[in-house]
Amino acid sequence: MENCIFCKIAAGEIPSAKAYEDDEIVIFKDIEPKAKIHLLCVPKEHFAYLSETDDRRAALLGRTLQKIGRLKDSLGLGGGYRVVINQGENAGQTVLHLHLHLLGGEALPWE
Ligand code: AMP
Ligand code: ZN
Repeated sequence: MENCIFCKIAAGEIPSAKAYEDDEIVIFKDIEPKAKIHLLCVPKEHFAYLSETDDRRAALLGRTLQKIGRLKDSLGLGGGYRVVINQGENAGQTVLHLHLHLLGGEALPWE
């Protein structure tokens, strides 16, 4: 997808602090961290919204959640973590390529 910053990061055309990569996802540091550890987990396939999930993408997202669980210690998230997906304007989604925020490295405020 042209002019998509996360497609460019996934393709290695824009630098990022990558923590993990395989054939279908890349995980890198958020440039404006909202927690001690704030990573973005980005499926390499371009689609904008969680609500665009079809059966194939549901399987991809399921594998992605499973991988995050398996990688938690190497990502520094062994003490616990929060997964956030912002969908659309009201949630403040700014990058229209689906991504999971992974927050942790410290106790996270909830209320
Ligand atoms: P969202 O608001 O859910 O769309 O999240 C987009 C996130 O991408 C924000 O937390 C930004 O700080 C982050 N971000 C934007 N550009 C970059 C970049 N070049 N490298 C790393 N993170 C980025
Ligand atoms: Zn994209």
